[in-house]
This record gives sequence, structure tokens and C-alpha cells, in this order.
Amino acid sequence: MSEESLNKNGRTTGLDQMPVTALKGVGSRNSEKLAKIGIRTVQDILFHLPFRYQDRTRVVPIGSLRPGDSVVVEGEIELADIRFGRRRSLLVRLADGSGALTLRFFHFSAAQKSALSRGSCLRCYGEVRPGPAGYEMVHPEYLRITEGESPQVEESLTPVYPTTEGMHQLSWRAMAGRALALLQADPAALPEWLPDELLRRFRLPDLTDALGYLHRPPPDAPQQQLLAGSHPAQQRLAFEELMAHQLSLRETRLRQKHLDAPILSATAEWTRPFLKRLGFSLTDAQRRVLQEIARDLQQPHPMMRLVQGDVGSGKTVVAALAALQALEAGHQVALMAPTELLAEQHLRVFQEWLEPLGLEVAWLTGRHKGKVREQLLDDLRAGRVRIVVGTHALFQADVTFHALGLVIIDEQHRFGVHQRMALREKGSGSALPHQLIMTATPIPRTLAMTAYADLDLSIIDELPPGRTPVATVVIPDSRRAEVVERVRSACVAGRQTYWVCTLIEESEALQCQAAEDTVRMLQEVLPELRIGLVHGRLKPLEKETVMAAFKQAELDLLVATTVIEVGVDVPNASLMIIENPERLGLAQLHQLRGRVGRGAVESHCVLMYHPPLSQHAQQRLGVMRETNDGFLIARKDLELRGPGEVLGTRQTGEMQFRIADLLRDQPLLEEVQQAAQLLLEQYPERVTPLVRRWIGDRQHYINA
Ligand code: ADP
Ligand code: MG
Repeated sequence: MSEESLNKNGRTTGLDQMPVTALKGVGSRNSEKLAKIGIRTVQDILFHLPFRYQDRTRVVPIGSLRPGDSVVVEGEIELADIRFGRRRSLLVRLADGSGALTLRFFHFSAAQKSALSRGSCLRCYGEVRPGPAGYEMVHPEYLRITEGESPQVEESLTPVYPTTEGMHQLSWRAMAGRALALLQADPAALPEWLPDELLRRFRLPDLTDALGYLHRPPPDAPQQQLLAGSHPAQQRLAFEELMAHQLSLRETRLRQKHLDAPILSATAEWTRPFLKRLGFSLTDAQRRVLQEIARDLQQPHPMMRLVQGDVGSGKTVVAALAALQALEAGHQVALMAPTELLAEQHLRVFQEWLEPLGLEVAWLTGRHKGKVREQLLDDLRAGRVRIVVGTHALFQADVTFHALGLVIIDEQHRFGVHQRMALREKGSGSALPHQLIMTATPIPRTLAMTAYADLDLSIIDELPPGRTPVATVVIPDSRRAEVVERVRSACVAGRQTYWVCTLIEESEALQCQAAEDTVRMLQEVLPELRIGLVHGRLKPLEKETVMAAFKQAELDLLVATTVIEVGVDVPNASLMIIENPERLGLAQLHQLRGRVGRGAVESHCVLMYHPPLSQHAQQRLGVMRETNDGFLIARKDLELRGPGEVLGTRQTGEMQFRIADLLRDQPLLEEVQQAAQLLLEQYPERVTPLVRRWIGDRQHYINA
């Protein structure tokens, strides 16, 4: 143990504070390389786990080898020979009495050649493969030994670490070895924050043992389990890390309960006539979620509620009723959507619903400039405008409210935490507005409770009655002519159609180009149809005009880029063609497809791919064909693409794990939540150090 790692009491300083340079052999050059991958302390070294292991703990008889094994063998060279085949190679025949094996070298020096001569004894480590004359090892590691004097084998499995340029496995092994020695000399230098009762209850090994095991597994360790990350020692670390995230988000939520928000009591002044005029009755799921919201709004602390509901589940009317409650209580409401298209649609729906009640709905986006904007800002500040719909323009610094009571955010995935926070700041005095966040991206419940532990969760798990599922087919684009015919007959029969163009490139310009080309092609082959085009580069007014025309059935066919992905509602549209669906994620396809199937007629979706289709893509499109259930699709998406994609921005930066893997460790999530609860209730003093250990500086970011 190095001198500087000891403090006055002869104890090691915390390994979370000890820089990597405290380890012998780690200088400033290595520490810079390590810093690049986020490794700064001895604790970081310990949490940098091997991703696989080699077994050099025993010498295996050559006669018992199987292809694919990576093993140590020993034997005597029977034959060494240079072959001049397609590639010159040195072939060495090694035998140990139980069998023989060929060692094959494509690169070799003269010295090597003479060392590998008949009669010498070798110990080799390498991977066994089938070769033209029995098993072989290509470029094995080898060591010359003296017959009968076999050197010692390794005592534990040999770890292989994920690495960074210029760091060799030998350095990693040495660093991990020294770090382990420090830990084992004084386990208190990396304290166990999980209480005994918890370790016992969930059958988890303690921290020191788990780390010791993973960096130096015994010879009989179950390699398959380690490879899968499901060994108790790994699960224990993942468990702790997930707990730290859970605790950090829960703390954020608890803090909310100490903040002030206006009490918004309903009077039914507007909600009653609103519901009367609505033309349909709410589903049970909508009613339940509304009750949850209504209860929150009457609390003196800010609501932070996420409403999940599949496409078409009717989130907008829930938002409107929440807004009415705030308005009835004399407060202002801001409704924010991620795109102008969507904001415009909300504006129209809210106008249609609220203006008959005598409530004027204002409108603020980036294109409102000059006098109009100033007037609106004045009205918001003075409280003359009570409800405003818009885009991110709503949270610009100069937008202030008289008494903002409720912020509604639609399609939360497009908004980062920072943006939400910016809107929250727009409350009056010390009071913060309540927040209602809506998303159509269904996330499996346990995952949602992990990723959104700072929010309360409501789920609209029911579609309005009378919806027929969208029938989906997957066909190659070589059958384009057939698809065009299908569009013709649908449109002629008065059923409107979407034709969605996608591109790999993020470039919006290219996407628009593709959409324009498609329009020209379709106009040529379908001259009898009225065809419109929307893409991201149209001026907002143009876009609005086209959308309005489509909605009023003045257009038969709407060619679009993925801008129509979220929220657009045209119930008479019942056919959708999606070009190159293999380029999109399942969640996005589900969103797109949700644009049809909104009326009572049976809807169809044609996924027209460009062959050849990878097996993975086939599987994904197969999921789309088989189900319309957004939650099921989300689960599949999670399996096929991993949680990063499914959670969107939430995942990037905000939820990065060192050891845990939300997909692999899903079975732990429920227990993690129970454990977090137990820690909060019975060991509150351990919460902060645990969160700091795993999240460190990022904690600040999450709670920003
Ligand atoms: P989303 O949850 O995808 O935002 P919307 O709020 O746009 O869904 O609702 C989809 C359609 O369903 C809209 O036309 C809406 O008016 C209608 N709708 C919502 N709730 C009901 C209901 N309870 N009964 C019948 N139709 C409903
Ligand atoms: Mg919506």
C-alpha cells in the first residue's frame, strides 16, 4: 500500500477520494487516458468491471479440447514446418499424450522459428478451432517450459476489461489488483451502504466480496452467468446503482412536496357545460386519470404528473379538463407542444372546445414577432389572456405570467428536463405552477417507475370505444405499382390516405426532396387524386393550409415526412403507406401508424420496405404487423433496441449507468424500488452517500 494512501490513523482514505495516481505504476500519462473514459479514482477502477474472463487456471489435456474453448495446454513439439500455401505459415505440432494440436503462425521471426523446434516443451493459451488436420490454435500465446517443471497456473480466472486506446490488459489487471488490495486491507475505505437486512432480504453478497469476486473469480466461477451479467456479484452492484438512481429521483420528488403551488379548486363552472357539449363520454381510464390530476391540483404543492396513453387514447380532452380546473380557480394555463404543427392542432381543438364557453385561447410560437408578440406578452403579464397554446417559444425569458397555475406539456419526449424547469420558473412569487406531462410513448411500467421516479404516473390504458385496430402489411417496394392502385381505390371510395417518406439521413432537406419527388411520381400515376404535401421546410402558414385542407377532405392524399408523427388527428384518413419503415424505430412507427385508425372504419397500414431486409428488421416489422398495442410494441422495442432508444432524451445524459443495464436488469427493478423505500425510511443517513457514489456530480444536473 502506498504511503500517501494512509492518513494519520493508519487508515486508508476513502477510495472514492483517492486518485488513480495513488496506485503504483499509474502516472500522469495513464491517468489522462483513464480520465477520458471517466475513471478518476480508485473506486472508479473497482467499478470498471471485466466484460469477460479467460481460464488460465488449469492445463487441459489436448485430447479433451472442443472447438471454441480458450484454454491452456502443454505439450512437446513433435514437428515444426513452414508451409507455402496461399499464405506462408509456420505449423507446429504439439502433443501431450492425450492428443495432438496444430499451432499456426502467419507472422514469425527466425528466432521464433528456431525456438519452436522439435522436442521443445511449450505451454500455450489460445482459442481452439477446427483446422484442415484436426484442431488448431492460431497465434497462441506461448511459453517455453522445461519438461516436468510445469510453472504455476493462475489462481483465478483472468479478467478482460473494456479498455481505451493505449491501455493494455496487463495494466488493467495490475491496477485492479492494487485497488483490490487496498480495499481488502481496509474494507471501510469503500463503505457498504446497503444495510445487512437488505442484503439478506434480497440475497446479495456484500460490496467487498462482490468486487473481489468479479475482478478475481475463482477457477470454478460460472462463466456463462458472468458473461450474461446475471451473477449475484454483478447483480448486487447493478442493484446498488439502480437504487442510487431511484433515490436521487425520489429525492427530487420529495423536494417538490416542500415547494408551494396554488391550490386549484374546481367549481364546475366550465367543466359541466364543456362535458355536455363534448359529444362523447369519457372512458373509465380518462375519468380515473382526471381524478388523479384533480386531486393533485388541489394540493398546495406542485403536481408533477406524467400521463401515458397510447396514440388515440384521448389525452387531449384530459388536458382540456385539467386546464378548465385551473381556469375555474382563476389561474392561467400554458399548453406546450414540441412542434408547431402539433401546437396549431391543439390551438384549433382548444378553440373549438373553449371559445363557446367564452374563453379565448391565445397562441404563441417563434413566428410571432414585433407588435403582435408584445401585445400578447402584455396580456399574459396582466392576466388578460388566461390560456395560451404554443411551442418552446413559451419559455423564453421575456414571457411572464400574471398567475400561471398549470403547465401542460404534450409529447414530453421532445422536451428536456431543462425546458420543463424553465417553464416551472414562470410561476408567480414563490408559487410554482403545477405540471402535467403527456406522452404517447408507452414505457413498460417498471421501467417507467425507474426512469420517471421523480414524477407521478397516470396511465390511460383504454382506447375510446369503436376503434378497429389498424391492419398492417409488410411488402417490398418492388410492389409499388400495386400499392399505388390500392391508394387509388381507397381514395376513390372517399377514404383519405397518408404517404409517409423517410430517409436515413437526418437532413431535413433530403427528406423534403424525397417527399417532393414522391408527390411528382404520384401525381403522374394518380392524376384523378388531389394530392397535398407537408414537410418540415414549409412555412408554418403553408403547412397549416395543407393540413386544414386534408382535414376538411379537400385533399385525398397527403404526402408527408415524419413531421406528422405525433398527434395529428384526421379521423377520415384510413390508409397509410410508410416508405422504408425499416429505417425507423418501432415506437416511431407506432406513432405514425396512430394517425390512422382514429375513426370507425377499418384502417390499413402498408409498410413498404426496400429489400433486402435484415433479420433484425424483419423481426421489427413483424412486431408491427402482429400488434397495435403500444405497450407491447414498447416492450419489443426495448428488447430489440435497448432502453436508450425507448426512453429518448431521458436516457441520454440523465440516466447513464456504469454497471446496471435497464434491459438486462429489469427483473431487479421492483426489488430496487422496495429497497430504496426501506433505505429512505430506516437509513436516511445512507441515502446521500449512496447517491453520491453512483451519480456524483450528475446529481446536480438531475435536480437542476
Ligand atoms: P391522443 O391521446 O393520441 O392525443 P387525442 O386526444 O387526439 O388522442 O384523441 C383522439 C381522438 O379520439 C380525438 O378525435 C378525440 O376527440 C377522440 N376521443 C377522445 N376521447 C374520446 C372518448 N372518450 N370517446 C370517443 N372519442 C374520444
Ligand atoms: Mg395527442
